[in-house]
Amino acid sequence: MGIAVSPQIHPQVADFIEKPRKMLINGNWVSAASGKTFPTYNPATGEVLAQVAEGDREDIEQAVKAARKAFDHGPWRKMTASERGRLIWKLADLLEAHTEEFGYIESLDNGKPLGIAKAADVPLAADLFRYMAGWATKIEGNTIPISVPYTPGAKYLAYTLREPVGVVGQIIPWNFPLLMAAWKLGPALATGCTVVLKPAEQTPLSALRLGELIMEAGFPEGVVNIVPGYGETAGAALAAHPDVDKVAFTGSTEVGKLIVHAAAGNLKKVSLELGGKSPNVVFKDADLDAAIPGSASAIFFNHGQCCCAGSRLYVEKSIYDRVVEGVAEQARKIRLGSGLDPETQMGPLVSKEQLDRVCGYLEAGFSEGAKAITGGHQSGNKGYFVEPTVLVNTQENMKVVKEEIFGPVVAAMPFSDPEEILPRANDSTYGLAAAVWTRDINKAHRVAEQLRAGTVWINCYNIFDAALPFGGYKQSGWGREMGHDVLNLYTQTKAVCANLAA
Ligand code: ADP
Repeated sequence: MGIAVSPQIHPQVADFIEKPRKMLINGNWVSAASGKTFPTYNPATGEVLAQVAEGDREDIEQAVKAARKAFDHGPWRKMTASERGRLIWKLADLLEAHTEEFGYIESLDNGKPLGIAKAADVPLAADLFRYMAGWATKIEGNTIPISVPYTPGAKYLAYTLREPVGVVGQIIPWNFPLLMAAWKLGPALATGCTVVLKPAEQTPLSALRLGELIMEAGFPEGVVNIVPGYGETAGAALAAHPDVDKVAFTGSTEVGKLIVHAAAGNLKKVSLELGGKSPNVVFKDADLDAAIPGSASAIFFNHGQCCCAGSRLYVEKSIYDRVVEGVAEQARKIRLGSGLDPETQMGPLVSKEQLDRVCGYLEAGFSEGAKAITGGHQSGNKGYFVEPTVLVNTQENMKVVKEEIFGPVVAAMPFSDPEEILPRANDSTYGLAAAVWTRDINKAHRVAEQLRAGTVWINCYNIFDAALPFGGYKQSGWGREMGHDVLNLYTQTKAVCANLAA
């Protein structure tokens, strides 16, 4: 350990990964109750990057206890909304001041290019915290004129309070480790909840470093607890815990269903951001200079490890060859390499498991008759690299068209009639995102209305903003993150009714 980044390159990061990382419970950095640690790997090399405390049921127990105490009895609930907002803003400032360091941690742990982590992941996370800091003072109830027909002549004052939902368990994935932590923590803190956060076992490091900044910012002990560990142990214990009021999960649809079952015991509130198989529709009247690179980045951004990746590329027949060849050309130009190499445009997949999964899908595609016009294989034999791949000869019923691959693999299909495309685009158990490329604004908005997806991009893709709600239709999830919509997931409404009898 410690060799992944030399102290000359980044002394703080070298130091951070050199020591076994502990978990944050009740404001203290502690080892796992079992004393166990687990390794996290550098996906560019397959070598162990750092050792991390392995949280399990007992650690979750302690973390939930701390979050409960902080919610029920700590100074957190007595703080004004303005004080809460200022703390969140301070966290954003601290995060931004450590952009370089978080860029390295994210690149080493997840594999993504350092430049992208610094230009996208870290600033988006800081921006999310700032956006949510602003909301802390703007969460308002209503006064409600009530009539109550069975009490003629009576007068009431009725109003609603929006109160924090309580102790929140948050389980996040490995594709945007820091950003997903921000998406979850930001609204929980803005609304006054307390949190037990479980980062993904593949990428726990940036959340743990963020925990240090949370304490440095001055959040009271127990408000944020961070327990790294595996999903089937720590994650399952958190989702099932009877003293957790809400669980927020981002990950696979399969695990999302397990979360729903686990939450049933105490009927905790559940929000889910799950998988996708998003259609990206290019009409013949599109600006192809924008649509071709846009469709390439729709699938290849973050190595295809985006739940909203544009993995089904539908192109109107007369421009099909040109668009598909154009996307393939873009794919061929992508430089694969270690995230720390400044020339790298695409890093490795996050893990051996993902590499095997994506290669398994490619094999399944080939055996069903799909053909790769570029890519189609693992790249090199060190680290977990997969060639950016464009599949043609694909049919709607193939595995590679129906199922989420979560890798740099797009299935291209022609369509001949604009009327035909909507049912095909909507023919999915998922409904997270979709895109349409056309110069016809009427068509663009008509199609946007009819696509069954939580986000529709018109002449763009992967545009995210803290103010824009994100979430899924159908089996892509429950609830919306970001925007003011997310506040509903972390608050509950209390109706207060006062009799103003003289
Ligand atoms: P992927 O398959 O892409 O790794 P997962 O849905 O398995 O995505 O993982 C997303 C998050 O869910 C991770 O933090 C993981 O540890 C957690 N997780 C996995 N299985 C469970 C489970 N049974 N209960 C709770 N959390 C889980």
